Amino acid sequence: MSVELPNDPAREDVLAARPALWLNPGLKDNGIADPALPVRAAQVDEAEHNWQALAPLLQRCFPELAAARGRIQSQLIEAKALREALGYQDADYGRVFVKADGDLPVAGSIKARGGVYEVFMHARKMAEKRGILTPGGDITVLAGEQARALFAQHTIAVGSTGNLGLSVGIAARALGFRAVVHMSADAKQWKVDRLTRLGVEVVRHQADYTTAVEHARVDAEADPSIYFVDDERSQMLFFGYSAAASELAAQLAAAGVQVDAEHPLFIYLPCGIGGAPGGVAYGLKAIFGDAAHTFFVEPVQSPCALVHMMSGAEELVSVYDVGLNNRTEADGMAVARMSAFVAEVMKPLLAGVFTVADDDLFRWLWMAETTQAIRLEPSATAGFAGPQFIVRSPRGLAYQQARGLSGKLANATHVVWTTGGAFVPEEQFQQFLQRGAALVAGD
Ligand SMILES: *Cc1c(COP(=O)(O)O)cnc(C)c1O
Repeated sequence: MSVELPNDPAREDVLAARPALWLNPGLKDNGIADPALPVRAAQVDEAEHNWQALAPLLQRCFPELAAARGRIQSQLIEAKALREALGYQDADYGRVFVKADGDLPVAGSIKARGGVYEVFMHARKMAEKRGILTPGGDITVLAGEQARALFAQHTIAVGSTGNLGLSVGIAARALGFRAVVHMSADAKQWKVDRLTRLGVEVVRHQADYTTAVEHARVDAEADPSIYFVDDERSQMLFFGYSAAASELAAQLAAAGVQVDAEHPLFIYLPCGIGGAPGGVAYGLKAIFGDAAHTFFVEPVQSPCALVHMMSGAEELVSVYDVGLNNRTEADGMAVARMSAFVAEVMKPLLAGVFTVADDDLFRWLWMAETTQAIRLEPSATAGFAGPQFIVRSPRGLAYQQARGLSGKLANATHVVWTTGGAFVPEEQFQQFLQRGAALVAGD
């Protein structure tokens, strides 16, 4: 299929794989209340309650969660030395923060918020159905022998470029399920090795992410003992991620950040298929409404959300359809075709999407580590382009004007959502750092 993108100021740069900011013409005032949306804001609260209910079990399964009493949370870090390195020291950049999901316990990436949630919710449901857990009863029985014996007869499967597989595999094995992870060709070897050590069966495909997911789905359909975590359609994943919004809201309040029409909040979320950034963005819109300006960020060769949403087409448009190749070092975002579900939900809510070049990911990785010891993988750094795009670029100025934000940027807060990194092996991380250092030295 070959698709012609509509006339748009960003089109030429997108097609030439140059960094660009696209503004979503579908963004609506109070879009969160759009009756056409297939989900409701109340589902974010439900997810928050479910996470609370799961906490004692999570703490039992993962001793590293003891201090946080079973909650999987990350820090909000103000970028100080880092903002200087990035060139964001001027007053019109407002305050700049990093939401450090790269350090999330259990899975070492933002996928801890989605994959762990879906696996544990699935286990809870199964245990209730079999009478092992009574509704409202002691959730920690799921770590007991009877539950483990039940789970051992069932398989959880997923397709992944790496991190979702890690998260689902770790969660499934912690409860005693069998786990099968279908990995795309982009998946880094260390992620495969780590899963194999946990007893997860890893199936490697010489193909892209969409194909890996398809294989996992077909296998699961043929066997009722397999539960498939469907990254292209799962509302469970989406709402697991969405609970991050209330965590961030509390952290912003604690940092003295005001969010309203005069004090806009900009959030930059790395996007693969769209589930993680979509869920977080949805949760933030549910809390802050129009004062939250949510942007996705994608590699220049893999802007699947950008091209599909820009196309305005009903049928999903992939990056291949517009002549891009989906090649990137940012394995967490190496996705050619976004989730149709997320595209529908984001249509009235997303402010826009910008793209970044791979070399910049390594520059930012080096800056984050050397200034504030924030350890990231390449995908996780993409949001650092956000403040520059919004505050200084022509399309950013157009957005400010369209949303009545001109002159208010000094009061703004920017949150760069960093999405993975804690589990990167030291040797691999040193290679990333060296590449970044060489690029910065050559500038
Ligand atoms: C998965 C992932 C993303 C993107 O999440 P999607 O749900 O695929 O959009 C971004 N960064 C990292 C590090 C990831 O692992």
